[in-house]
Amino acid sequence: MDYIRLFNEYRIPFDLSYLKSGWVNIQCVYCNDASMHLGFSVNDDFCNCFRCGGHNLRMTLIKLLNVPANILDQILEPFQTKSKILSRLNEKEKLNKNKIELPDFPLSKAEKNYLLDRHFNPDDLIKKYRIQGGGYVGDWKNRIIIPIYLGGKLVSWVSRTIIKDREPRYKNLENHLSVIDPKKIFFNLDNCRNDYVIVAEGPFDVMRFGDNSVCGFGTTLTRAQLMYLSNRFKKIYFMFDNERIAQKKAREHAMLTQGYGIDSFIIDFSDYGYKDIGEMPPFKVKQLKRELGF
Ligand SMILES: [Zn+2]
Repeated sequence: MDYIRLFNEYRIPFDLSYLKSGWVNIQCVYCNDASMHLGFSVNDDFCNCFRCGGHNLRMTLIKLLNVPANILDQILEPFQTKSKILSRLNEKEKLNKNKIELPDFPLSKAEKNYLLDRHFNPDDLIKKYRIQGGGYVGDWKNRIIIPIYLGGKLVSWVSRTIIKDREPRYKNLENHLSVIDPKKIFFNLDNCRNDYVIVAEGPFDVMRFGDNSVCGFGTTLTRAQLMYLSNRFKKIYFMFDNERIAQKKAREHAMLTQGYGIDSFIIDFSDYGYKDIGEMPPFKVKQLKRELGF
């Protein structure tokens, strides 16, 4: 069924964050859903709420469209075939690659020095996060490549320039060259094995903090990213930079994920006197972790 066209015509607000996995989401008509937990499968005719479970499709549509059962089929008839809108959206999503490979350059001396200046041990980061150099020519020149893995598979990467004041500081592999759009996932998910997660601002914060921390790419997280966190973790701690705009973003994200029924918190490390976690010396981070009980 073409739910997108159906919901469009009946003016039911919907969310396409999960379209790639085959779902069109709306606000659930059964539970006290403040966001978009009720998913309609675009491939099979059934629906399921991520909070309150599976529901009978006919009953749900009757409730949703507020129509009597005996005219439901007549109403649904025009929406039974796949529309152009949906196939076009699917095609757009299909642009991603199945497999990608890193540029595969070793860290240069300058790149190593950059890490040492920031009090990171390059060998430790190579071993744990498989970071690489950006090479001497091309798109990734003078950039440290930080691979993004999901389930052990390389799905994208982000890079950090080592040149002072060079913009952009962080550059992602573009969506259509990635296996998964980086704006739908996080860095370091494979090292999160608890039911809680710490969401930091950038990859260097994560590499300083270690396991059970992740970062999106920038302070603005997408709805798809926040839904990912809400589906995977029970508690989310936002640990953004000690600075007004970042803190405002952290509060917004915490409120939104609370709306998804998740316990969300904001970690305030302003007492430590550092702008971000990446800047904090390792022994201070240990102290902070102890204080937070991680
Ligand atoms: Zn529900």
